[in-house]
Amino acid sequence: MKTYLKRPWYKPILQLMSFLFSICSKCLRCGDSWYWKKAHILNYSDSGSIFPCCEECWSQMDVSEKEFYAELLIREAERTSSNAGFSHYNGWPFQAIIGGAFQEIRKEESEAV
Ligand SMILES: [Zn+2]
Repeated sequence: MKTYLKRPWYKPILQLMSFLFSICSKCLRCGDSWYWKKAHILNYSDSGSIFPCCEECWSQMDVSEKEFYAELLIREAERTSSNAGFSHYNGWPFQAIIGGAFQEIRKEESEAV
């Protein structure tokens, strides 16, 4: 009997993975998939990135709108993760990810001509 298959220890992980994939696979603003649109890569740390919106939307938004979508994505990930028993993503607390993402948005803005 394969009784180990009944144990749902892997279920929260699968749920989290599928959620992060589904929410990270399309632009939060226009809803277009990364299959045919280029995602704007936003680094929240040296090793971590999020992809809230496509390059097209990103170039049309102001700082507050960018922060809104970055936070929306991270909060959604936080909500789903904590349901699944996770309080961190990629080893980072969610508040730190938001802080890192906001910092990057302001950095991009100051570098833009
Ligand atoms: Zn878009």
